[in-house]
Amino acid sequence: MNLIPNYINGELVISATNDYIPSVNPATNSVINRVPISSITDVANAVAAAEHAFLYWSNLSAKERSNYLLAIASEIENNIDSIALAEVNDNGKTITQATTIDIPRAAENFRFFANAILEFTDETYNTNKYNNTVLRQPLGIVACISPWNLPLYLFTWKIAPALAAGNCVIAKPSEVTPLTAYLLSKICIKVGLPKGVLNIIHGNGEVTGNAIITHPSIKAISFTGSTTVGKHIAKVAAENLIKVSLELGGKNPAIVFDDCEFDDTVTELVRASFSNQGQICLCSSRLLIQQSIYEKFKKAFVAQVKLLQVGNPLLPTTQVGAIVSEQHYNKILNCIATAKQEGAVILCGGSSVQLTGDNANGFFIAPTVLENLPNNCTTNQEEIFGPVVTLLPFDTEQQAIQIANENKYGLSATIWTTDTIKANRVANKIDAGVLWINCWLVRDLRTPFGGMKQSGMGREGGNEALRFFTEAKNVCSPPPPKGGFQTTK
Ligand code: NAD
Repeated sequence: MNLIPNYINGELVISATNDYIPSVNPATNSVINRVPISSITDVANAVAAAEHAFLYWSNLSAKERSNYLLAIASEIENNIDSIALAEVNDNGKTITQATTIDIPRAAENFRFFANAILEFTDETYNTNKYNNTVLRQPLGIVACISPWNLPLYLFTWKIAPALAAGNCVIAKPSEVTPLTAYLLSKICIKVGLPKGVLNIIHGNGEVTGNAIITHPSIKAISFTGSTTVGKHIAKVAAENLIKVSLELGGKNPAIVFDDCEFDDTVTELVRASFSNQGQICLCSSRLLIQQSIYEKFKKAFVAQVKLLQVGNPLLPTTQVGAIVSEQHYNKILNCIATAKQEGAVILCGGSSVQLTGDNANGFFIAPTVLENLPNNCTTNQEEIFGPVVTLLPFDTEQQAIQIANENKYGLSATIWTTDTIKANRVANKIDAGVLWINCWLVRDLRTPFGGMKQSGMGREGGNEALRFFTEAKNVCSPPPPKGGFQTTK
């Protein structure tokens, strides 16, 4: 099996470590690569390269940096099929999801920030007496750490704004899904990204991740992952007084009122619940249904869920692929066992799915719908991050808001009604950073993205990301006298 190389100072470098993690295709349970647990020395080499590159990269014009990002975007677009295939083999997601969502979005991330940086101008606040100019300068060397569920999509969502703003980056993909980050290294080499500007280091959190976040030269950490690790990163960042952006877990409610567009709502909520095997931080996991349509909704929803095709992720007809790893598969099955102990009624699913042929040993779980659980039980309070949703009835608008907010997380929520005034009134009262009314996963990359409460701190997207990756410096001076000042050479 191949040992995945790091990308340091513009070159593919095999880590000196002897420690590695087998990288498994979860749809077949076969080892496809080995991921090095890169050491403190690997990280130090990457930081040294980045520090050297920063002098050059931060002094390029925004247009020059933008051109490099556009070249990377084009190269991803030119290779969507092969990159998508790697993502499927590494992650277990369906080829349709990888080809139409994950990889195009990775290209779009670079293209979006290549353009956004050209519009990101200094702010000015002028009066008769004084002029203020707010300069936005790159921070230096920043860390970007991402999870396994949308591997290249989320990795590039951090790297692109960091580079666009003039920083040099030490990036670590999840050890569970390293392959497309490696392919990104090759793309950067191909387009001639200057050496050391981006460094991609593979490894686990305990050794490699900690070596990155505790390195004294790191000026900011952009992290997406679990709330537990996010809290650890926040402590390290506090100790070093560096910026931190945390995109963490969720337990997202969908509020379905009895005046919704019924058929569209059912179809969209099946998608919102089970896309990517329910392994999207924004997936709906608690479906709050108004009592007057509860039975009708339950019947229609469960009927559609039962039609979902669980199978080989490489087949275009497959709608539900493999769970990302054996460890996560066991975690989800344990969550279903807990739900049963808590009194859940299983309306469909509730167990693993045994496939045949190459997929006989893969990690598949049937889309699962549960009911008969109070909102305060473990199943409704803790993130499962798999193909499992619960149905909860409610009577009044006030009750729906209360159930939605009775949770430590606050990432996203959806509201389903034809009453626009009610929808906006409810959106105002829900504790979530991302609200969708009669839609799901619609993203304008200019908008702020992030969660409240235990779902995170800070916002990504558009100017929020560019502000995060820059230091604001206000320069205040009286306006020059009429005729202007003399300038010195
Ligand atoms: P995780 O927290 O276990 O790992 C995420 C990343 O952090 C990985 O690269 C991991 O190696 C690294 N890491 C782990 N320990 C570290 C440490 N001590 N120092 C530095 N890095 C460390 O999360 P996961 O299991 O990969 O991902 C699933 C979680 O991510 C879920 O909770 C999900 O909700 C969340 N998520 C959130 C968003 C969002 O935008 N809010 C998006 C996707 C996923």
